[in-house]
Amino acid sequence: MIRLKSYLSGAWVDGQGEDEILVDASTEETVATTCTDGLDRDAALQHAREHGGPALRAMTFAERGAMLKAISKAIHDNREALIEASVQGGTTRGDAKFDIDGASGTLAYYAGLGKRLGDRTFLVEGEGEQLTRSARFFGYHVKTPREGVAVHINAFNFPAWGLAEKAAVAWLAGVPVFSKPATPTALLAFRIAETIVDTGVLPVGAFQFLCGAHGDVLDHLGPQDMLAFTGSGRTGAILRRLAPISDRHVRVNVEADSLNAVVIGEDVEVGSEVWQMAVRDIAREVTQKTGQKCTATRRVFVPRGALEALTEALSEEIGRVKIGHPMHDGVRMGPVASAAQQRSVKEGIARFVEAGATLAYQNDAAPIGVEPGKGFFVRPTLLVAEPGNVAVVHQEEIFGPVTTLLPYDSTADAVRFVAMGEGGLIASIYTDDKKALKELVLGLAPWSGRLLCGTKKVADQAIAPGMVLPSCVHGGPGRAGGGEELGGERGLSFYLQRTAVQGDRALLMRVLGLKA
Ligand code: NAP
Repeated sequence: MIRLKSYLSGAWVDGQGEDEILVDASTEETVATTCTDGLDRDAALQHAREHGGPALRAMTFAERGAMLKAISKAIHDNREALIEASVQGGTTRGDAKFDIDGASGTLAYYAGLGKRLGDRTFLVEGEGEQLTRSARFFGYHVKTPREGVAVHINAFNFPAWGLAEKAAVAWLAGVPVFSKPATPTALLAFRIAETIVDTGVLPVGAFQFLCGAHGDVLDHLGPQDMLAFTGSGRTGAILRRLAPISDRHVRVNVEADSLNAVVIGEDVEVGSEVWQMAVRDIAREVTQKTGQKCTATRRVFVPRGALEALTEALSEEIGRVKIGHPMHDGVRMGPVASAAQQRSVKEGIARFVEAGATLAYQNDAAPIGVEPGKGFFVRPTLLVAEPGNVAVVHQEEIFGPVTTLLPYDSTADAVRFVAMGEGGLIASIYTDDKKALKELVLGLAPWSGRLLCGTKKVADQAIAPGMVLPSCVHGGPGRAGGGEELGGERGLSFYLQRTAVQGDRALLMRVLGLKA
């Protein structure tokens, strides 16, 4: 049995009260316990503001980047132990690598950005602006690290990447981090936190880790603090409305649910390269991490005439995926992370069917390598529905290996139906028809954080739609939370204050260290 601890105010500490239990998602055996009752969150936040913030702000981007590089390397060096820890949450080796390499890769990317930003402690955005008729009076936009703490609350599905992608950006910006993982899969997050602390490269107070219930942490935030939340839309809405958050003007970023869409163009021939690319991507997005990805494809818009062929092709692809214990040879899909998650997927499918969707395919092979009846397994499922008649497909995210195929009759209809999801993280478009591509890109962009265009020329080299890259923004409008993370230097903005500084051009250039 592993006891998970929290890292607060520079020490590993344990709570005293009722333990929270972490079970193995495949065997349902208890593997770890944790408790955060009685831990002094307020003191830990203050410790971060007093020590971590000033120390990070004194460092240059290059120095902060070097720190990230060391942490990235430590996570990479510890990869095998981290993969082992991820089994608790039902994660296969391949899925664990996706999470853990995503963590070290994002840290490495931001380490590189730190090196490029170099010997500075703050940023000046763009060129200055002449403000009057005189060329002497100028304005510059200066971006300085905020003087508070970045509180990061993460979802259960990416315990490694979720922690690291947020922390990398905050640390590079010069802001200390208070990170809280989701409890059901906190074992891997705890191992990541241990790895980070053990590097010894972070200044005192730069990292706090609360391994379990949030308690009163949000009651102690103030106007220089930031809350970056990833999780369900329901929790996101609760957090936004909390009085301590709204009354004390805490800066908030929310990454929430998303009914990510695929649109297969009317020109795409069944069996063509672009068709195969779409089938491969959809099958991967349905089954990778057992469908528990914020970027997984939930709605597939397919020309009516190609619906049958797509159902057949996807059933075949998904039927090939071996389901079972994550460490069993050849298994490509494990269970979902918890009993609650299993219940919610099954209930979601039943609700969709009751609302008018039909069950087109379910992989009903018994999970291999596990005791019969044990584990939080769910069946990969394809549903079919009329997008204009079954509203629930545009309203509810089934967070598991489930997607709905939705026939459409014109590109304009496809655009309209995607928008009914009220904002998503990613929409993928598969077409070689330039006119349709333009209509889809411009029609879907206002509703999407990211668009992937699958065409013949990139069919064998494009990345999967569910892959979040540190160089491109992650987040989406509306239902997806309205937030934005990553995106290279853009991601730093959440942790920096942009200030317009107006005055004598030559003087300001000297003060801000700008070259003529
Ligand atoms: P969740 O139940 O909303 O929990 C998310 C996090 O919030 C957990 O750490 C949870 O802690 C914490 N939490 C819950 N209530 C809280 C409160 N009142 N105050 C402070 N913290 C609170 O979501 P989940 O089940 O972990 O994750 C699944 C959802 O996340 C899905 O809907 C998925 O779409 C979304 N997601 C979105 C993204 C994105 O980037 N847009 C990425 C990944 C996941 P405890 O675990 O301790 O309760």
